[in-house]
Amino acid sequence: MSEVFIVVEHRLGEIRDITFEMLWKAGELAQKLSCSVSAILLGHEVSSVAEAISDRADKIIIFDDERLKDFNADISKEIMAGLIGESKPALTLIGNTSWGMELAPCLAVRTGLPLATDCIDIGFKDDKPTVQRQMYGGKIFSDVSFSPSAGYLVTIRSGVFPKDRIGDRQAQIVHKDLSLKDIPLKKEFIEFVETAAGDVDITQAELLVSVGRGVGEEENILLVKELAEALNGVLSCSRPIVDKNWLPKYLQVGSSGKSVGPKVYIAVGISGAFQHLAGLSGAGTIIAINKDPKAPIFRTADYGIVGDLFKIVPVLKDKVLETKKG
Ligand SMILES: Cc1cc2nc3c(=O)[nH]c(=O)nc-3n(C[C@H](O)[C@H](O)[C@H](O)COP(=O)(O)OP(=O)(O)OC[C@H]3O[C@@H](n4cnc5c(N)ncnc54)[C@H](O)[C@@H]3O)c2cc1C
Repeated sequence: MSEVFIVVEHRLGEIRDITFEMLWKAGELAQKLSCSVSAILLGHEVSSVAEAISDRADKIIIFDDERLKDFNADISKEIMAGLIGESKPALTLIGNTSWGMELAPCLAVRTGLPLATDCIDIGFKDDKPTVQRQMYGGKIFSDVSFSPSAGYLVTIRSGVFPKDRIGDRQAQIVHKDLSLKDIPLKKEFIEFVETAAGDVDITQAELLVSVGRGVGEEENILLVKELAEALNGVLSCSRPIVDKNWLPKYLQVGSSGKSVGPKVYIAVGISGAFQHLAGLSGAGTIIAINKDPKAPIFRTADYGIVGDLFKIVPVLKDKVLETKKG
């Protein structure tokens, strides 16, 4: 294998975590397979973005153009198709994000390359990638191989790989002109709407305290929220809590919610259904509080506390606050 492409994802000058995660995976593949990592950066005035990833790629190919200020899959598709045709990378990684979910399928159609989406791991066998995907809401892991092709497209689920740097690289910066003149645009960017004040992105949190149906009543969520606040963490939840309209959907962890990658995940009154665990593959240390010693969450948790959350959570919170006071 010669070269792995990753499509850099950034927004308003900020690099999205998925970029670092893909660079980590590409770096790991590069170490194993002696290939190079090229980051493809589309945007406008993106030198600081390039700077921030320059020690994680061998090459950064930059298309800097006013027309690329905001993401538009129509333009990105044309640029990527041209670049893939020219460089023939063995593999192109794209985030399985709102960007990537729009770009990857149309790029696959445009280039004729095979695409595997929402992958949670990638390996190589007989010079071809093999990817791992989840099926049936995370109940089954499937290993997928491709028919032989000149290249392969893979979208990567957020939060499944570390964000750390792997290897020590020094990227060569290559600037390319956007020679495409008349790209037929079927969509236009209208505006970027920030999430409302107070809203949080649980995929970015380092510590999540997640509340499940074991909490019993809506008003009891406050107890768990206070523990999250004491720990400087963020509150998240399982699906029944959202279904009951006790918390908003964007706080839901799991296969029909968000995949998260906190350093620490504390599950309070959550049984550990596979749909919930499907969102936890990127989590570091998992701690479970549950009164049922046979709850499936204990099979996944690194630490477990068997007991009544109404007794345990207040004690934990007080201990944390005491420790903070010194
Ligand atoms: C297509 C599909 C998609 C889904 N997607 C998701 C998803 O994205 N995320 C998700 O979370 N679920 C999802 N689900 C639902 C999932 O199957 C489970 O129903 C759900 O995860 C259960 O949530 P829970 O653990 O909070 O509740 P329960 O399974 O009811 O567990 C509650 C737990 O609390 C414990 N408990 C009760 N009282 C106490 C107490 N006082 N102290 C301590 N522990 C106590 C119990 O022992 C129990 O283990 C999905 C289901 C389907 C069919």
